[in-house]
Amino acid sequence: MKSVAIFIERRHQKLSSVGLELLSETKRLLKDTNHQIVALYLTEKSNTDDLKRLETCGADQIISYVNPLFETYDTIVFTKALENIIKAYDFDVLLLGSTLMGRDLGPRLSARVHTGLTADATLLEFEQQEDRLSLLATRPALGGNLFATIICPDNKPQMATIRPGVFSIEAFESQKASVISFDEAITVKSNIKIISKKVSETAHVDLTKAKLIIAGGRGVATMFPTLKEIALLTGGEVAASRAVVDQNIEPKDRLVGQTGSTVRPSVYVASGISGAIQHMSGMDKSEMIIAINTDPNALIFNVADISIIADAHKVLPLLQEEIQLIKHQL
Ligand SMILES: Cc1cc2nc3c(=O)[nH]c(=O)nc-3n(C[C@H](O)[C@H](O)[C@H](O)COP(=O)(O)OP(=O)(O)OC[C@H]3O[C@@H](n4cnc5c(N)ncnc54)[C@H](O)[C@@H]3O)c2cc1C
Repeated sequence: MKSVAIFIERRHQKLSSVGLELLSETKRLLKDTNHQIVALYLTEKSNTDDLKRLETCGADQIISYVNPLFETYDTIVFTKALENIIKAYDFDVLLLGSTLMGRDLGPRLSARVHTGLTADATLLEFEQQEDRLSLLATRPALGGNLFATIICPDNKPQMATIRPGVFSIEAFESQKASVISFDEAITVKSNIKIISKKVSETAHVDLTKAKLIIAGGRGVATMFPTLKEIALLTGGEVAASRAVVDQNIEPKDRLVGQTGSTVRPSVYVASGISGAIQHMSGMDKSEMIIAINTDPNALIFNVADISIIADAHKVLPLLQEEIQLIKHQL
């Protein structure tokens, strides 16, 4: 039996989505095999709701490592903790989210245990080759102009960090997980001393959770007030292409694509966006894509469910008016 371990990231004492996404996707990919999916749950205090969630999202086994040091993220402590677990369990694959935490931990950890790491993957596949379970991790390469599938044939665990929001979270209701307590002492000393904690006051938007996204590109760079009005009326979030973010019209947390968020809303409205691969890799899994562009050959139309070949400066105010009318009638 082979094992795929998934680091379960927590922020502010709550499970982050990315670990649950990775559990669900691995379960979907390995459902017809007897390979084991192991959740690595590092926490300052075990929580039964967390354990239940990890189970229903696809874990066969949960390694629960409880230590007061895990209350606040610390690179040195977390690297040592994961190194302890890896050395004790000999996993075939280890997956982490491509978040600030995962990007910090992944390279340190892979160097510690002498293995390879594919960073920032957007697609996972597993291949059974005789006695080996191989991980094939695909990521954009060469400025996003091609996709590279990377393998790590000689070392274990085969490691990858995967972008948040790429996979959906699923509930496998009949799933059962065993819980193992791991309590090896952490022998490293942190170099970080926390003097005080302050919650950031700038509201950071999480586009990965939005069900409706009203996105704009260079073609509608002057239309963001209208896009915001439409988003407000419909309960959606505004997003932007890199061309807009680079002009400081919208902040970086509104960027969709290779260097921004990967989103999969129910509806993604793309106005004045050409459809460069670096943008589309972040939104092409949206359930419905509506594209508005003056250029009939714009690449965005290749992924659009509804294509509107028109001037967005004319279409967007009409759309806004129409929504206002409908809202008044309700
Ligand atoms: C390493 C790397 C990483 C990158 N990462 C990202 C990323 O994460 N996200 C991202 O978005 N980009 C990214 N890019 C940039 C990407 O390659 C494109 O340059 C960018 O997405 C283009 O933005 P755009 O579609 O808004 O602008 P353009 O490509 O200039 O397209 C503007 C579009 O608007 C249309 N248009 C013009 N006027 C109107 C109108 N009145 N009504 C309707 N349509 C109109 C035009 O026909 C055109 O299709 C990256 C590039 C590199 C090299």
